[in-house]
Amino acid sequence: MKAANATISSLGTTVFEVMSALAREHQSVNLGQGFPDDKGPEEVRRAAADYLLDGHNQYPPMMGLPELRQAVAEHARRFQGLEIDWQTEVLVTSGATEALSDCLFGLIEPGDEVVLIEPLYDSYLPIVRRAGGVPRLVRLQPPDWRLPREELAAAFSDRTKLILFNTPMNPCSKVFDREELGVIADLCLKHGAYAVCDEVYEHIVFDGLQHLSIMALPGMRDRTARIGSAGKSFSLTGWKVGYVTAAPGMLKPIAKTHQFVTFTTPPNLQWGAATGLRLEAEYFETLSSDLRRKRDRLANGLTKIGFDVLPSQGTYFVTTDFRPLGFNGTDEDFCRHITIKAGVTAVPVSAFYDDPVRAPRQFIRFCFCKNDSTLDTAIERLNIHFK
Ligand code: PMP
Ligand code: GLN
Repeated sequence: MKAANATISSLGTTVFEVMSALAREHQSVNLGQGFPDDKGPEEVRRAAADYLLDGHNQYPPMMGLPELRQAVAEHARRFQGLEIDWQTEVLVTSGATEALSDCLFGLIEPGDEVVLIEPLYDSYLPIVRRAGGVPRLVRLQPPDWRLPREELAAAFSDRTKLILFNTPMNPCSKVFDREELGVIADLCLKHGAYAVCDEVYEHIVFDGLQHLSIMALPGMRDRTARIGSAGKSFSLTGWKVGYVTAAPGMLKPIAKTHQFVTFTTPPNLQWGAATGLRLEAEYFETLSSDLRRKRDRLANGLTKIGFDVLPSQGTYFVTTDFRPLGFNGTDEDFCRHITIKAGVTAVPVSAFYDDPVRAPRQFIRFCFCKNDSTLDTAIERLNIHFK
């Protein structure tokens, strides 16, 4: 038999699947993979259910239902002050995961350099490499994960096709501020590079911070692809409805990839997402304030147990250093240990690095978008175990 594609064949199974399977096996409280207990807004689910029963369940237009593309454009105006032409600048995808692949396959030419920021979401590197991109990694350092200006500048060159980054950032819960985005924007402009920005947690930002899209910065309007996800904005992660916004010339190759990857996304879920994007500001405020309260509940409990809890400015996650607990082993060992012995599952942060062996090995990520009772059970179990 001839060998399959080497880049893909050499991949392991994604950490989220591995840890969720281990959690199921040991019936532990799963604070690993990020999915909310919350059912999502009823009007959004009802809109999708009604459309399923009464709407048109055949192929929707390849670019997405006009209602959703219009809603994405209105939402960008409302929250980022961006003027978007929904007909030529918005593409609906099957989740942000597909959106990311469409952008990378559509924009990268083999041999192009791609700047990425570590720790990074686990789908980025395999797709960059499969598209023929050459990764240039820049690492953020805890606890504040500030952007290292000089290293970033050194990673860019005239061979850079694009930078791919994520704000608010999974796993380290950092929100890039205007100054940091300005540094990235200046480098993109200097080297003629694109920015692909994964903004799936755009509405999950805490403590009065604001999410800012790099697309809104001077000079970046026509060189940014901005990616959102209904899964995250409406607590419906199983829906897999995403959207890419980019200038027409940039969106074209992205849409051409989409046409042969999925072509479309279920129309009733698109309809539901359109309903969601048009919800009142109060919905989005409550989403982040509820999650902030949950962050504090979990973070306080973990601190009392003895974890060193790092700041979490956004997302579903909080990163902790387990060394104060005296555990001797890697982050993977620790996550297995607490799943099996304490009945609580988390995710090792080294999985978010290109080379886990050269990554920091003392951090684990807990997810807090769960019922209070689930968070309390997790804390209680860890408390008993580490007493
Ligand atoms: N990017 C980041 C940073 C994520 O955490 C996720 C989590 N699901 C995704 C992309 C994928 O989003 P979707 O489920 O819409 O594909
Ligand atoms: N984004 C989710 C997380 O970080 C996982 C999504 C997935 O399982 N692919 O936990």
